[in-house]
Amino acid sequence: MALRVGLFDGHDMPDWRREARSREIPADLFFTEPGEISNYREARLVCAGCPVRAECVDDVLAWERPGQRHGVVGGMSPVQREQVVRARHGGAA
Ligand code: SF4
Repeated sequence: MALRVGLFDGHDMPDWRREARSREIPADLFFTEPGEISNYREARLVCAGCPVRAECVDDVLAWERPGQRHGVVGGMSPVQREQVVRARHGGAA
């Protein structure tokens, strides 16, 4: 199951996902429960060496909506992803 459910539950799994470093890693490394503390350091390290990081970021930014952002995806926190979306849309998410 790994990260697939966390990222793609309710969505088709894209082909690039077969090369994802997180494919066989438990999702809780990337997604904590509400109130649980994590610095996501290990998740960020996994993403840093992922060969499909660019595809992952483009994918998640295309479907994730404000209020849905959770955990580390593409090596970025929810706040960082929100900042990228806002920058791409000239300040409006
Ligand atoms: S960038 Fe990170 S979250 Fe995205 S596929 Fe790669 S390892 Fe998984």
